[in-house]
Amino acid sequence: MELSKMEPIVKRFYEGVAKGEYWGRKCPECGAIEFPPHLMCNSCGNRDTEWVRLTGHGKLLSLVLPGIQNNKPYLKDEGKYGYGAVQMDEGPIYTFVVYGLTKKNRPELNRRIKAGETIGVHPKNVQRDGWVELCFELDDDVKESLKK
Ligand SMILES: [Zn+2]
Repeated sequence: MELSKMEPIVKRFYEGVAKGEYWGRKCPECGAIEFPPHLMCNSCGNRDTEWVRLTGHGKLLSLVLPGIQNNKPYLKDEGKYGYGAVQMDEGPIYTFVVYGLTKKNRPELNRRIKAGETIGVHPKNVQRDGWVELCFELDDDVKESLKK
């Protein structure tokens, strides 16, 4: 995948990610935000959405750890990771790679999620061949609290 060949919406998303800007599309009809952005609103079907900048901060709703067969080297090089459903502070939910998830802290994270605690995550960009992949990592206060 080359940035120059991406569709404009996808391109703007990845250009933003590389600069630390997180752009979604907001529906003026129902207020839903698509992130990562789509042209159409998936909530009401409206085709007339507009750009909205997100903070990039979110919370972890659930997690899955990769098995031996699907542990990707380019991701592993950046640290231990898993996959998580991330809800952005502005509302949209999507699955991302999340750094800091381990076999050791998984039970505690699951317990906290079940208890309704907020597990904050923020972007961690991973450089790929010609583009930047948006991943997330646990917030520092979460990491700190897991050490205890
Ligand atoms: Zn809508």
